[in-house]
Amino acid sequence: MTGSADVLRRFREAAHEAHPALTELDRLAGDGDFGDNLTTGLDLAVARLDGSPDDGRDAFTVAAEVFLDEVGGTSGPLFGLLFQELGRAGETGAGWPEGAADGLAAIQRVGEARVGDRTMVDALSPAVESLRVGGSPTEAAQAARTGARATADLRARMGRASYVGDRAQGHPDPGAVGIALLFWSRAAAES
Ligand code: ADP
Ligand code: MG
Ligand code: MG
Repeated sequence: MTGSADVLRRFREAAHEAHPALTELDRLAGDGDFGDNLTTGLDLAVARLDGSPDDGRDAFTVAAEVFLDEVGGTSGPLFGLLFQELGRAGETGAGWPEGAADGLAAIQRVGEARVGDRTMVDALSPAVESLRVGGSPTEAAQAARTGARATADLRARMGRASYVGDRAQGHPDPGAVGIALLFWSRAAAES
């Protein structure tokens, strides 16, 4: 997709900047490795992109390979599924509205989380809805951020965070914050 490599590079930078906060959020709700999983994956993805020939594959397709095969945690393969669909939509020319919607569907098929379970789905679902009704990249990013912030008031029903009770109350879900960073990276790349 035009600009996919730029979005991916910006997302890598944003994830590194947010690494301490993401680590702390996952420490409160889980095992503290989310920041590492995301930055390590994006470092590998950008390195692979830099080393691959320009063969017409979308940058997100390259990132999907890395996240599906090599990135740990629950979030690694789930981000991999989203990247796979964004990559596919880039290669067919369908674009973000379709790619993000298909990515959400894949994440929910595999992870079985619904809106309100305090996962990345709580940020991705409103962003997909914003794009579906014609929202701009910035509006979609705002929708993702609003969804991510609202997870602070939710109790986790999926994943590791569901074991720790109320310890993370008042703090957003790290995976949802990661999704918002992705959509802001796209908005920044397209402005
Ligand atoms: P782990 O809990 O295995 O250490 P990570 O720390 O890499 O995984 O990722 C945690 C994030 O994964 C959470 O913040 C949440 O957003 C997301 N997550 C967990 N379970 C699910 C699920 N079933 N569906 C969607 N996202 C999920
Ligand atoms: Mg974790
Ligand atoms: Mg872990």
